[in-house]
Amino acid sequence: MTASCRLGPERCSACLLQAPLPVEHPHYDQVYLLGLVTSGYARTQVSISHGMPTVAATPALAEKLGVPTVSDVRRGAPSIPPRHRELWLLSSGVLLLSRDGKLPLLRRDAGAPTAAGAWTEPAGRCDRSFAATGLNELNEELFLALLGPDPERQRVVAFQARGLPDALPGKELQRARVAERLVSAGHPGWDDLARRLKAAETTQWLLPEGSGLDELVLFHDGAEIERLRGASLLDRENHTLEWRLCYRLGLPADHWLLLDGEDYGREARWWTPGPELAAQPLTPALRYWLT
Ligand SMILES: [Zn+2]
Repeated sequence: MTASCRLGPERCSACLLQAPLPVEHPHYDQVYLLGLVTSGYARTQVSISHGMPTVAATPALAEKLGVPTVSDVRRGAPSIPPRHRELWLLSSGVLLLSRDGKLPLLRRDAGAPTAAGAWTEPAGRCDRSFAATGLNELNEELFLALLGPDPERQRVVAFQARGLPDALPGKELQRARVAERLVSAGHPGWDDLARRLKAAETTQWLLPEGSGLDELVLFHDGAEIERLRGASLLDRENHTLEWRLCYRLGLPADHWLLLDGEDYGREARWWTPGPELAAQPLTPALRYWLT
């Protein structure tokens, strides 16, 4: 492993990639990676080296750390030193497709700063590798419970990928929150169901879509550390590389209870790609991939 530099994981993207902030860190999910992006036909390369700054969610934190804010990078603010103006925001998430061809989507808040009210897949800014970020976002943003006729087999599902930390503790907390939410929303039957569900079990990523996917290669200080296949979009307007892992669930969508896994209470539902979905408000990336 490459040595860290003096800047450390809150200020340096290479240090952050090497040592992501743990959930209990006060700035967890407040600082993200920036990277150099080179895009060719069906192949995107991201390079992150020591000395490249992180990017902060809020102006107060940006000032404290001496790094740009997300909106600075998005609009290419003159306060960013010229040598860092070529750095891109990085986003990762998961396009999950059920066996019967449905996508679980969430509706963004009507007051969201970008793409308000649009349907989106689970995704967020990278504060760790693309696979780890996508997995985190999927587990945090979607509450998926496997139902089916046999109560003994009903369970909350977390997704797991080889070599990444176990997502189970967070999922168990989420199960308790969802049970409470169902009660307060006046769904005693669902609440009972949520309480009866076993603790989260991990499900391995199921088969990635084989064909027509882009390749992403991530370099840390010159060394390749990640190579993935998925969907890629350079959103130049927002200076963001949008990356999505593409996976299939092994079961039809109607065997799953689907809810927003976070406390925002956003609408969540299964959508079949097609004209009805295309007529809905969608995030730019989702529209690019689906229509
Ligand atoms: Zn560093």
